[in-house]
Amino acid sequence: MNPDTRAPRHIDAIIVGGGIAGLWTLSVLLVKGYNAVLFEAESLGCEQTLASQGMIHGGLKYALSGRLTGASEAIAAMPSRWRACLAGHGQVNLTGLTPLADHYYMFADRGALGRLATFFASKGLRGRIEKLARAAYPEIFQVDGFQGYVYRLDDFVLDTTALIEQLKHQAGQRIYRLRVDGRHCTVDDSVTLRVGPQTLIANRLILCAGAGNAALARSLGIDTTPMQTRPLHQVIVRHANPSPVYAHCLTGAKRAEPRLTVTSHRDGDGWLWYLGGQLATDGVERDSQSQCDVARDELNVCFSWIDWSAANFTSLMIDRAEPEQTGLTRPDEAFAAVSGPCVTCWPTKLTLAPDLGDRVLALLPPPQHAEPVTLDLPSAPIAAPAWAQTTPP
Ligand SMILES: Cc1cc2nc3c(=O)[nH]c(=O)nc-3n(C[C@H](O)[C@H](O)[C@H](O)COP(=O)(O)OP(=O)(O)OC[C@H]3O[C@@H](n4cnc5c(N)ncnc54)[C@H](O)[C@@H]3O)c2cc1C
Repeated sequence: MNPDTRAPRHIDAIIVGGGIAGLWTLSVLLVKGYNAVLFEAESLGCEQTLASQGMIHGGLKYALSGRLTGASEAIAAMPSRWRACLAGHGQVNLTGLTPLADHYYMFADRGALGRLATFFASKGLRGRIEKLARAAYPEIFQVDGFQGYVYRLDDFVLDTTALIEQLKHQAGQRIYRLRVDGRHCTVDDSVTLRVGPQTLIANRLILCAGAGNAALARSLGIDTTPMQTRPLHQVIVRHANPSPVYAHCLTGAKRAEPRLTVTSHRDGDGWLWYLGGQLATDGVERDSQSQCDVARDELNVCFSWIDWSAANFTSLMIDRAEPEQTGLTRPDEAFAAVSGPCVTCWPTKLTLAPDLGDRVLALLPPPQHAEPVTLDLPSAPIAAPAWAQTTPP
């Protein structure tokens, strides 16, 4: 407890935004001995992070043109960096967090892979992808109706709510609910934030507000890297099939992107399927009903052995927020850039959180302020996953 709440308190960093970028950064800073607090406007994970599919991937889905690219290679190390965190010797401590799925899969109808089959078997991909014998297929593909190929990737899937719970728990009382803006926060050589009678002075302000970074920078009158948003139209399917699925479908894919990217998430006593991939990128111009109709058609092709007639479909439109790229292309790496005492961050993908952690640490001066602060503000709650906020029609 602070002896005099009116005396300004000095800390190393204020982090704005409680998605994966802010929570991961807070965790990394605390491990390294920084004195930092985080402010979240609504609830932790409420925007992109709890709408994500939770895939910790090494970028192979970006190599479906049949060659390794900058994008696929920049993130190749991420699954092993996250596995180190799960095992207790990584950048942050995630021991006790059990993945939703230990592996992610790719599948295609017989004959659908063409020269990709040779590429998948190439030396450059050894250890990252493995063609499975039928006996090793996940349960959903062990049926006569499926006569294709299944590959196991080094990738895995996290329960993003459990991830946020763990990061929040480790941070103790350092996460508060507050929308930061220019009315109570000023930036000169350092950063001053006033909350009621309390004043906080920080060496650095770390902007991890996702799509909110641009408005936040405007409100604080600081210059930062311009932002771009790229929309996705995801689909949620509730149905009676008891098997969870974690797989990219390549059957009949017409370009170098999975036709469907499927993850499964607990929904009452069963599982719902959450669909992304080409369906979600191509579907941004469709209204919800048309997108659900297309999703049903896609499932009838990709999972033709399952009866989809009684399934319930809903959809969800959401933007990814990233640093601006030429021609709205996808960034390959996490992003962190300094402007005065501010660091603006976009992880660009959940899987790139460890890369973001490295980049932020490289931009900070050593820790200077050890004395903990307690603010008279409520703690930020954890949001519900995006699919839990949609109800079947
Ligand atoms: C549908 C979808 C699926 C995805 N699937 C994957 C996947 O499987 N694997 C993968 O690697 N990546 C995936 N991604 C990308 C990944 O989810 C994002 O890159 C990542 O979650 C971004 O995290 P963030 O913390 O930067 O942003 P966000 O999660 O959007 O968090 C920003 C937070 O800042 C808060 N905020 C905003 N303004 C303020 C303010 N002024 N004051 C205080 N707080 C503020 C917001 O309330 C929000 O909680 C997916 C993205 C989408 C949209």
